[in-house]
Amino acid sequence: MEAYITLLTNNSYASGALVLAHSLRATHTTKQLAILVTSAVSRPIRDRLTAVFDAVIEIGELNSNSTANLQLLGRPELGVTLTKIHIFNQTQYSKVVFLDADTLVLRNVDNLFGTAANGSIAEGEDRNKRFAAAPDAGWPDCFNSGVFVCRPSYQDYTGLIEMADQQGTFDGGDQGLLNSYFSGWSTGDSSNRLPFLYNTTPTSVYSYAPAFQQYKDKLNIVHFVGSFKPWQWLRFADGAVFPRNTSSKDSITLVQQWWNVFDQYIGGKPSDIHEVSHGY
Ligand code: UDP
Ligand code: MN
Repeated sequence: MEAYITLLTNNSYASGALVLAHSLRATHTTKQLAILVTSAVSRPIRDRLTAVFDAVIEIGELNSNSTANLQLLGRPELGVTLTKIHIFNQTQYSKVVFLDADTLVLRNVDNLFGTAANGSIAEGEDRNKRFAAAPDAGWPDCFNSGVFVCRPSYQDYTGLIEMADQQGTFDGGDQGLLNSYFSGWSTGDSSNRLPFLYNTTPTSVYSYAPAFQQYKDKLNIVHFVGSFKPWQWLRFADGAVFPRNTSSKDSITLVQQWWNVFDQYIGGKPSDIHEVSHGY
């Protein structure tokens, strides 16, 4: 079984997870949709998730039932970082495409499950690729951990936990840990590298404007990185997003696409679902 999986560590990203799921359904994917939730996610939100995801999987508190968890008991500060690592423990799935809850899928990307992890269909090749991801715009020799393809395995799961326990994570988050663990990513087999079009951050609108103009019609997955998420934008009465002082036309268009999915499939306001701070 193959699945797209996202993650919800609390209520505040719930509209992101719902929009992501609907954006995937709209592409007529043939894969399962699953979401990992922590105990901090409320019952009403779980009910909404159940309506669109095939599986809502609660990832448990740390306990002493496994050696992997035992090692973490003394390192509570790594708890949040390691939540995403639970993806590697979902061995009921043979292959997973992980997507952050702040991503939006614009077209069918089921080819990410294809023979080669980078989506190219090279028959009979690369069936066992362990991991693939796209470059991070800030340091392209690192991958961005908001979108990745992997084969869940207990070996990688425990290996990641061991590494976290022994050396922590250089950026304080899961991305640093994953980059240390899959350290051959930038120099190794090119099929481990997904095109940036599978994890395009709107920051590229500014950082490389001509490239954005050239390739914007080819985006597959948009990733709204940073502290200000689409559901925090205010809108005019007609539904158009209210421009923030730094926003360009192209970045507004991307945020508007997120809202179009929200309006079409969910309706109402994100604040009907969870608390939203607008932070203008
Ligand atoms: N997340 C969450 N609640 C939070 C923070 C993070 O559910 O308060 C989950 C969610 O899936 C999110 C992912 O962890 O997409 C990574 O965090 P975020 O996307 O904020 O990091 P960024 O991509 O901005 O670096
Ligand atoms: Mn993200």
